[in-house]
Amino acid sequence: MGTARITFDRWEGRYAQRMSGVRSSAVRDLFAAASRPDVISLSGGMPDVARIPAADVARALDEALAADSSASLQYGGSDGRVQLREVIVGLMAESGVRLKVADLIVTAGAQQGLDLLAKTFLDPGDTVITEGPTYVGALQAFSAYQPRIVSVEMDSDGMRMDLLEAELAALGPRGAKFIYTIPNFQNPAGVTMSPERRRKLLALACAYDIPVVEDDPYGRLRFEGGHILPLRALDPDVIYLGTFSKIFAPGLRLGWMAAPRPILAKVLLAKQAADLCGSNFTQTVAERYFASERWRRTLRDLTDAYRERRDAMLEALAEHFPAEARWTHPEGGFFVWVTLPRHLDTTAVLAEAVEHGVTFTPGDAFFADGRGSSSMRLAFCFAKPDQIREGVARLAEVLADRMDVYRAFVEAGALPPEGDAEASDLTSRVTEVSP
Ligand code: PMP
Repeated sequence: MGTARITFDRWEGRYAQRMSGVRSSAVRDLFAAASRPDVISLSGGMPDVARIPAADVARALDEALAADSSASLQYGGSDGRVQLREVIVGLMAESGVRLKVADLIVTAGAQQGLDLLAKTFLDPGDTVITEGPTYVGALQAFSAYQPRIVSVEMDSDGMRMDLLEAELAALGPRGAKFIYTIPNFQNPAGVTMSPERRRKLLALACAYDIPVVEDDPYGRLRFEGGHILPLRALDPDVIYLGTFSKIFAPGLRLGWMAAPRPILAKVLLAKQAADLCGSNFTQTVAERYFASERWRRTLRDLTDAYRERRDAMLEALAEHFPAEARWTHPEGGFFVWVTLPRHLDTTAVLAEAVEHGVTFTPGDAFFADGRGSSSMRLAFCFAKPDQIREGVARLAEVLADRMDVYRAFVEAGALPPEGDAEASDLTSRVTEVSP
């Protein structure tokens, strides 16, 4: 790819065992290549922060410092400022979740919430159930605590409950420490869990006495269809992770965790050891930003832009991609998941794609066990519609040669043709892995 560096690490052999299972994020490794001006990035899940009016942020900052500069500049409580938690209570109520300020803590993004949950819940060898594919940052956060990851496949309605049920039956009551799900516009698959499946998931989690972790960074970025109630709205035992990264800006590093209070108390101990407290500075800025109603217009503008980009991507895929390819239809969020015939290795495709001036994320980054190698995640959040069309066309060019070889092999009988559904990693099978 031109970004890999081989370094000799003379400290090798001294690191803790737990770091051996932690893989570097392919997404992050790609950022270097993607920053070349001639390269169209369909890889990173970066919000289009250029659409956030700088004047609104400057005003929020000024107001925060004018109101009480020492509150902004001082250490704060490890559970987060009450004023910001009141803002979050309001946001959650709009999504259908009723909370009190004491039901949530502020975190450094949802990512810190994932790490703190893993730190609080996981011993080596414990089982965690995730969707397959799942968010690469969750795999990274969990794997440092050496769990066994069981991934349950999805279809267009999200995690398949028949497969989850089979897995739970095999594991038995309390057989996993938690079930991790991204129900809305999943990263990376782009699919949304249906209301029926949400109810079924909660019923199964209750029957097997296993907590559910709901990670919901994209829930407010819906392009079509009606709002679906979060799992946390249906069950107060659900651990909910929210973030300001997509409704405001990831540079603030602000998110939250709502959970049963005994869990929050344990998580807070872990958090104090990690950072003493979050940034009061960014919390006070966020409080002021959300005090004005202007954020709603900005979020509408962002959502409209993402919808237009999603449409550009889906149209370009239909126009340029090989007939054998399958992809998801996200109703919101940032990502489309594309599945190609099994013999195609998207990591190899990526090297060539970068030469052609386009990047994407190879599918195997989103599995703990190397599956997903013939899939790719395409992000439509950052590039402009024209760039997305051009990027997809460039990518299709790279795929075209490989597809010619594939078809020749199929015609010669050297490879079996693939059926539609079977070709998809979204609908294949349950696999257990130890990272
Ligand atoms: N969960 C998911 C599913 C994500 O996609 C992301 C970021 N892209 C995060 C958590 C972490 O986000 P942040 O730490 O910025 O809130």
